[in-house]
Amino acid sequence: MNLSIRLAVLAGFGVALTFPVLAQNVKVTPLGGIDGEFCPQDRALVFEDPNGTRILYDPGRTVAGASDPRLGKIDIILVSHMHGDHVGNAHNKAPNSGSCEKPDMSVSAVPNTSAVNIAIAKKSKIVTGSEMPPFFAAKLKANSGDPADSILARFGGSVTVGGVRIATVTALHSNGVDPDYIGGDLGKAMKEAGIAGDVGLPTGYVLRFSNGLVVYLSGDTGIVADQEAVVRNFYHAKLAVMNMGDGFSTGPVEAAYVINELVKPVSVIASHANEVGTVGGKVRPGSKTETFMKAVKVPAYIPLSGKTMEFDAEGKCTAGC
Ligand SMILES: [Zn+2]
Repeated sequence: MNLSIRLAVLAGFGVALTFPVLAQNVKVTPLGGIDGEFCPQDRALVFEDPNGTRILYDPGRTVAGASDPRLGKIDIILVSHMHGDHVGNAHNKAPNSGSCEKPDMSVSAVPNTSAVNIAIAKKSKIVTGSEMPPFFAAKLKANSGDPADSILARFGGSVTVGGVRIATVTALHSNGVDPDYIGGDLGKAMKEAGIAGDVGLPTGYVLRFSNGLVVYLSGDTGIVADQEAVVRNFYHAKLAVMNMGDGFSTGPVEAAYVINELVKPVSVIASHANEVGTVGGKVRPGSKTETFMKAVKVPAYIPLSGKTMEFDAEGKCTAGC
């Protein structure tokens, strides 16, 4: 090899080594009810690792089932807990059907759940904690999926899938399995008695992406000491996705306390408002969303449906915010 060819090869390597460094951001894309808005049922976020692994967090009711064109490739599905607005007991017909105020939830997803329907169509792994994995394994098996695609990450441990380390953390909430997912005589009897199935505790998540970014996903939760002791002191989360809808979980004031005093991330994304949070893409005056945004001391971002935000390893938003 003569010198000029060697230099050309080295230059080629230089380019190849430089480009991934420039692109080391995690992309976060909300899949909400209405493009460009933050609506009452919005839960679902897609995280894309710099290595291409795509993770769907809490599909809920705004992902229009497995055929939603916004999904693309989904490698991993996370479900914080079994409530219908997170696992998806029903969903809209298509993105942007219904209005922000009156979302379309006309397509039933029982007894499977939308999470399972998407996992089967996309051949995704479902990673959950507590005692949820056997439930999802049974649903996958019942629908000709592979039960081994339901993977456990119980409190204190972690699993690495697609280069992303996934751990579950405390969420102080409830986690009943609606009898509609059980069906048959047992499901009917449970429904009449007003009781739900038991798959253990609900969870939040901590994700460590391949660029080093650590993200806390609160799930539905009250205020818990683990948000400081575990999420901050052990995992050092730099970006938080914080549920602030009130009534069912922390409200905007409590959620802001969690961010300001316990987790102390670099940035936060509001989630789970259970209200029309924005009009024309701007925070609605008088909303819980506005209260939360004003109360947090770190940069806070609204998950506008379809608008991709990018975060670096330190949790700083570098694009789309
Ligand atoms: Zn819930």
